[in-house]
Amino acid sequence: MPEGDTVWNTARVLDRALAGARLTGSDFRVPQLAATDLTGWTVRESASRGKHLLLRLTAPTAAQWTLHSHLRMDGAWRAYTPGERWTARPAHLIRVVLRSPGAVAVGYHLHELALVPTAEELSLVGHLGPDLLGPDWDADEAVRRLAAEPERTIGEALLDQRNLAGVGNLYKCEVLFLRGVSPWTPVGAVPDLPGTVALAQRLLAANRGRWTQSTTGVLRRGGTSYVYGRRAQPCRRCGTAIRKEELGDRVTYWCPVCQPDRS
Ligand SMILES: [Zn+2]
Repeated sequence: MPEGDTVWNTARVLDRALAGARLTGSDFRVPQLAATDLTGWTVRESASRGKHLLLRLTAPTAAQWTLHSHLRMDGAWRAYTPGERWTARPAHLIRVVLRSPGAVAVGYHLHELALVPTAEELSLVGHLGPDLLGPDWDADEAVRRLAAEPERTIGEALLDQRNLAGVGNLYKCEVLFLRGVSPWTPVGAVPDLPGTVALAQRLLAANRGRWTQSTTGVLRRGGTSYVYGRRAQPCRRCGTAIRKEELGDRVTYWCPVCQPDRS
């Protein structure tokens, strides 16, 4: 599940593969960029903002541009060495290929792929709340934004990237379990909002630098979460069957005993 930590890791992989490199070719397989050719462009750096990826480039004219992409539920970037087979995903999912002398970056099933002047990056990510894994993470501001809508359920509010950027379904479910808070609790009734926000940040930060997302500290398959993906399995604390509810594309897992409804 691409959440803030996955996107952070992806940005680092792209940065290591391409930063400082001059592109020797590009191949966009999306209509809006089909005519774009980045040959001769230099990659300055790769960064993440919440769940958004920003690949910053300098054109031969010295103009600064940003290639934006979003992974949503199923997107991915992979870096290969030149000549290596691209095995991560089926070829029909490829949306862009960037070639440099030392690496080939392949973007699969990317969303919102756009090339914008770097000065206009804010038009793409300016609406986001504080980035949980950003160098400028501001917990107080995230709490302030969440608290501004006290009637909203905490489950929904944590997913709203305008409040804080980087939490997806997995971390939402896990944070609320660990805090003993039902996902349907109104924000105004959450006992310790700053503590909830701080825990979300710690859980994401703990998974930087690895692809296995674990909130339990266990990395073995089947042991990485408390409630997420564990419908009908016994709660690790009380043994009650974990519940799952789907609302559109938003899935919630919770333990009805450990997370009593206070609304
Ligand atoms: Zn329980």
